Amino acid sequence: MVTFKGTKVVSGIVIGKLFVYMHPDRHITRATADDTDAQLAAFHEVRRRAIEQLETLYDSTLSFLGETNASIFVAQEMLLEDDQYIGFVERQIKESKYNAAYAIVLASDEFSRILTSIEDTYMQSHVADVRDVSERMLRILCGAEIELKEPQEPCIFVSDDFNAGDIVQFDREKVLGLATMFGSPVSHASILAATIGLPSIVGIGQEMLSIYDGKCAVLDGIKGELIIDPDKRTLERMRRKQKEYEEQQRMLLLLKGKNNVTKSGAYINVYANIGSAEGVETALAYDAGGIGLFRSEFVYMESQTYPSEEEQFLIYREVVEKMRGRKVIIRTLDLGTDKQAAYFRPEKENNPALGYRAIRVSLAQPQIFKTQLRALYRASAYGNLDILFPLIISVDEVMRIKKIIKEVTDELDAENIPYRKEMRIGIMIETPAAVMISDKLAKQVDFFSIGTNDLTQYTLAIDRQNPKLEEYFYTLHPAVLKMIEITVTNAHKAGIPVDICGEAAADLTHTQDYINLGIDALSVAPNKVLTLRKKIRECD
Ligand code: PEP
Ligand code: MG
Repeated sequence: MVTFKGTKVVSGIVIGKLFVYMHPDRHITRATADDTDAQLAAFHEVRRRAIEQLETLYDSTLSFLGETNASIFVAQEMLLEDDQYIGFVERQIKESKYNAAYAIVLASDEFSRILTSIEDTYMQSHVADVRDVSERMLRILCGAEIELKEPQEPCIFVSDDFNAGDIVQFDREKVLGLATMFGSPVSHASILAATIGLPSIVGIGQEMLSIYDGKCAVLDGIKGELIIDPDKRTLERMRRKQKEYEEQQRMLLLLKGKNNVTKSGAYINVYANIGSAEGVETALAYDAGGIGLFRSEFVYMESQTYPSEEEQFLIYREVVEKMRGRKVIIRTLDLGTDKQAAYFRPEKENNPALGYRAIRVSLAQPQIFKTQLRALYRASAYGNLDILFPLIISVDEVMRIKKIIKEVTDELDAENIPYRKEMRIGIMIETPAAVMISDKLAKQVDFFSIGTNDLTQYTLAIDRQNPKLEEYFYTLHPAVLKMIEITVTNAHKAGIPVDICGEAAADLTHTQDYINLGIDALSVAPNKVLTLRKKIRECD
C-alpha cells in the first residue's frame, strides 16, 4: 500500500482501477532557426488550429455546462488573438531567431509572470489560460496526440496535469476521479472538474509513476489522498467513508435550503462550530445557518507566538465575509487545560480544568485581550459578527469585560476605524455558577451559549478528558437538564436567546429534550448540520 498526499479539489471518494497517463516529454529546449518565415508560418498555423479546437470546445461545453463554463474557451481564444501576445511570439522568432515552439514557451512564461505580478485575483486566474493555450499549441506543433489518451473502462485517471479542454472531453462513464502530479486547485481544469462533480486532487508529486497503472486505488477527494493497493482494513474503512459521504450528499439534496422547523412549527437555528477560517467552506457546504461557535484559541494554537492584531483581523474578516451576512459568533481565547500553545506557559497546576484558563487568562493579561478585541471589532465592520466570552462565573467579570470593550471602542472611534455598533455580546454558560446567577447575567448580555462539554464536567464533577469516566459523562443527566432549564427560563425572561454549542447539541437523542426546554439554536460540527436539520423536522 502506498499513499500519495495532494491538495483536495473536489470532494468525494471513488474506488477503482488506476489509469496512469503521462504526457510525452516534448523536450522543448532553447533552439534557434534561420528559416524565420517558416517558423512564423508554423506559429500562425498552430494558432489557427488551436482557435478552431477552442471553438469546438466552446460549443460542446455550452450545451452541457452552460455559458459561464464555456466562456473559459472564449477567454483562451481571445488570448490567441491578442496583438500583444502575437507580437511577443513574432518578436522572439524574428529578432531572437528562436523557433516557433521555443517562442511559444517564452510567451507562456512571460505572460504568466506578468499576470502573477498583478495584485488582482481575477487577472491572476488567467495564468491558467496562458498555460492552457501554450500547451494546446505545443501539442499540435510537436505532433503529440491532441486528445489525451483515455481509459477504456471506468478508472481513476492519473496524469502529470490536465487542461480545461481535457476535462470537458472525458467520457464520464470511464473517468471516476482525477489525480494530477502537478496542477493547481484554482486552475480552469479544477473549476470544471468541480462543476461536473468529478472527485479530484492535484499536486500528488513527482513520485507518481506509470508502474502503478492498472492497480486498485482509492481516491479520497475529501482528504486529498490517493491510496494505491490499499490493504483490506483500509479498503473497508474507505468503503464506509464513501457510504457515509454518499448518504450526506443524498441528504444535502433533500435538505439543503429547507427550514429547521419542528412538526409543530417551532423554528430552531442550526449553526456550525469551527476552529479556523477554512472551516467556513465546510459550514457553507453543509448549509449551516451561521457560525455558532468559532473557537478562536485554535488561531493561537496554530501560531508560534501570540497572533498580532492584524493577523487575527484578517482571519476574522475572512470568516465574516465568507459567511455573507449569515450570523458569525466568535468566542474569545479559551486557552488552558487541554488547549495549550507552546508559548503559553502558565505555572503547573494540580487541577488545570479548575485553573487558569479562558476568560481568566484574558482578564489577567488585558493586553492580549485588547489585541483580540480590537481585531474582532475591526472585523465586525465586514459582516454579521457577535462576540462570545468563555467560562464566565460572575457579573463582575462581565462588567470588567465591558469596561475593556469600552476602552477598545473609544480607541477605534478616536482612530476613525469603523466597527459594527450593534454587535451583540454573549457569554458561555458552562459553569453551575453561571447557571445559578443566569437571571442577573441575562440582564447584562445579549445572548447565552450553553457549553454542555464543560457544563456537564462541572455539574457532575466528571473530567471530560478521562476516557475511563466516559460512562459517567452523561449529558442527559437530570441535573444537567435542570441547569439548561434554569438558563433558558432566565434568558427568555430577560428577552435574550439561548444556543447550545457543546458536543451534545449534535446528539440526536437529545434534540427533542432541548426543543422541549425552549432552546433557540443548536451549533454543531459542520458535517452534523443536515442530520440535525432532519431530526428537528421530525420533532414536535
Ligand atoms: C463546551 O464547553 O461545551 C464548549 C462548547 O466549549 P469547549 O468545548 O471549547 O470547552
Ligand atoms: Mg467550554
